[in-house]
Amino acid sequence: MSAMAAENLREVRNQIEKAAKAAGREASSVRLIAISKTFEAEDIAPVIEAGQRIFGENRVQEAKAKWPVLREKHSGIELHLVGPLQSNKVKEVISLFDAIHSVDRAKLAAELAKEIQKAGKSPQLFVQVNTGAEPQKAGVLPEDADAFIKECRETYSLNIAGLMCIPPLEEAPAPHFALTKKIAERNGLKLLSMGMSADFESAINFGATYVRVGSAIFGSRPKVET
Ligand SMILES: *Cc1c(COP(=O)(O)O)cnc(C)c1O
Repeated sequence: MSAMAAENLREVRNQIEKAAKAAGREASSVRLIAISKTFEAEDIAPVIEAGQRIFGENRVQEAKAKWPVLREKHSGIELHLVGPLQSNKVKEVISLFDAIHSVDRAKLAAELAKEIQKAGKSPQLFVQVNTGAEPQKAGVLPEDADAFIKECRETYSLNIAGLMCIPPLEEAPAPHFALTKKIAERNGLKLLSMGMSADFESAINFGATYVRVGSAIFGSRPKVET
C-alpha cells in the first residue's frame, strides 16, 4: 500500500512533466499538491519520504489531527486547504495552513482580513470559482468573480494570489479550465489551482500552476466525503 503510493507519486510526476512539455511549459511551473484527505499519517509518511512536500486537505479538523505530528517529523511541509472554509475556523486555518483555495464570499474575506492582521502572516489565497454554477458547490459564480476579487483587494486589502476551480463531475473539464484562466488573466492573477486525478493533464494544458491530485497517488477513498 505505502510502497504503491510512492510508486504512484513517481508516475504522476512523470505525467505532469510530459503534460507540461506537450503544452510548451517548464515542468517546474506546475506544482503538485498531494491531496491526502481521508488517509492516515502512516499512509502519508511514505509519500513525504519519497520527496513530496506540498499536501492538501479538505477538512480542518482532520488536518489538525494529522499534520502537526507529521510536521514535527518532516521538515519543509507546505499544507493547503482545498475544502470549504467556515468563518469561525479562520483563525485555526491561518495557523495551520500555508494556502487557502476556497475564498468565496465577503463574510469570509472580512474574517480573513481580520485574522491575517492579528496573526501577522497570510496564507496564499485563492478565490474559488464555481464555473459550473452548481448549487451544492462552493465558489463565486463566474459572473461575480471580477467584482468579488476587487472587493477582496480594495475593501479587505487581501493579497489574492490566484483562482481555483472544480469542474462539474459529469462535464468535460476543458471549458471550465479555459474560463478560469480567462478570469485570472483579466484580473492579473498568476496562479491557477485546477486539475485533479482524472484531468490534471488537461488542466496543465490550460495553464494550471497547482494540480490537486489525490486518488492517483494514494488510491481510492471510501465514498463518504463532502
Ligand atoms: C479530493 C479533492 C481533490 C483530489 O481529487 P482526486 O480525484 O482524488 O485527485 C482535489 N481537489 C479538491 C478540492 C478535493 O476535494
